[in-house]
Amino acid sequence: MRYISTRGGMPPKTFSEILLSGLSPDGGLAIPEKYPTIEVDQLKVWRDLSYQSLAFEILSHFIDDIPSNDLRDIVNRTYTSESFGNPEITPLKTLAPDLHILGLSNGPTLAFKDIAMQLLGNLFEYTLGKTGAVLNILGATSGDTGSSAEYAMRGKHGIRVFMLSPLGKMSRFQTAQMFSLQDENIFNIAIRGVFDDCQDIVKAVSNDHDFKQKHHIGTVNSINWARIVAQIVYYFKGYFAATSSNNEQVSFAVPSGNFGNICAGHVARTMGLPIKHLILATNENDVLDEFFRSGIYRPRTTTEVQHTSSPSMDISKASNFERFIYDLTGKDAAKVRELWQAVDQGEAFDLSTTPLWKKIKDFGFISGSSSHAARIATIREIYQKYNILVDTHTADGLKVGLEYRESGTPLVCLETALPAKFAESIAEATGHEPDRPAGYENIENLPQRYVVKDMDVAAVKAYISEQTNKSRMVCNPNASSG
Ligand SMILES: *Cc1c(COP(=O)(O)O)cnc(C)c1O
Repeated sequence: MRYISTRGGMPPKTFSEILLSGLSPDGGLAIPEKYPTIEVDQLKVWRDLSYQSLAFEILSHFIDDIPSNDLRDIVNRTYTSESFGNPEITPLKTLAPDLHILGLSNGPTLAFKDIAMQLLGNLFEYTLGKTGAVLNILGATSGDTGSSAEYAMRGKHGIRVFMLSPLGKMSRFQTAQMFSLQDENIFNIAIRGVFDDCQDIVKAVSNDHDFKQKHHIGTVNSINWARIVAQIVYYFKGYFAATSSNNEQVSFAVPSGNFGNICAGHVARTMGLPIKHLILATNENDVLDEFFRSGIYRPRTTTEVQHTSSPSMDISKASNFERFIYDLTGKDAAKVRELWQAVDQGEAFDLSTTPLWKKIKDFGFISGSSSHAARIATIREIYQKYNILVDTHTADGLKVGLEYRESGTPLVCLETALPAKFAESIAEATGHEPDRPAGYENIENLPQRYVVKDMDVAAVKAYISEQTNKSRMVCNPNASSG
């Protein structure tokens, strides 16, 4: 399988070549030249596979430049019951006939991002190990992504993580989760500023190409193709768990932000998984809901973005959305380039008056949005009716999913985080705080490891240089400074 760019400006590359890179050189996103298709016979065999075997089969369709035995080993090391708290990895909870929640949040940071990020950690380590290269991951986080990346990369050879976060602005639980890591390759940098300041520093460092090259700086952002591939697996797993034959169709409700999770659902459907509807749920930041209702995609300005009680979906534009539009145009890179010329300048595009808008119904998407009041009411209702606690993001998915529920079609709502991470909203809905999973009870009392820096690009650069030089001397006195 070869990968090209949604904007047409990249010669075909292998999986390993696109694994460590961010955006394509032309500003587009990597995408397979052609999606694999899964025949009915194959679905029949896959139905009975364990999560690990299913993941290996699906990954093999997208990764053909890692030897099978190595890939199988990577998958088996990644998807263990120790890491995911359950031998099924993504267990299905049935609330009522044809109403299910797919548990995606039992990984180390209690959110669905672990499913892809844990695989990414092992793929990065493997690929870097082949060439003896090193990677210093630099990122900014307001919570979820940063901790998921740190837990995926901790202890990995050849990889360090420098994660910027706004000092004192994350929840105590999130702060403890990240800062309690004692691994020598994890560097938490608390910035005296807000999240946007952290992001600005990351941008400034990344724009210094000399520094970036000298210090092997990379990122783990949500546009990484390997993350999408890892997420395809649980759509198949969820489908098999919710049905008894491959003649049935299923609809998935997906709490959405950057369009990464539901993009994997779109790929699964394109491959031939019998998905009826992909139900996209946004919170108050409804840029995607607006598109699927009106055909108009209007990225928001940062001041327009609302801070909500489902914060991991607070986005101004959806970075993976370009992949879907590429498929919608029938893989017309010139058209994508034209549309994103507007997007990159913060402008909107309107497909409602174009033939593309008529095609969109073939893709199975429907959408809706939620609000604070609606998600609190949903958490309360699901708790009272089924005695199950869901987090605020999952509640947004359930809220919109239930609006579109059809009799005779199983509805699978994707759980994207555990309620323990959002205790305040759970207390608002139910009158009491949720239990913490075993091992997380006292996390706030663990010793914390982090440094504090001013909102100052030079200071952050100096810190990165100092740490990479120091650990280079300790680990490998002969390594070149590259
Ligand atoms: C990241 C995240 C989302 C949004 O997923 P996308 O792939 O960005 O659409 C939803 N819920 C939670 C808890 C998340 O961490």
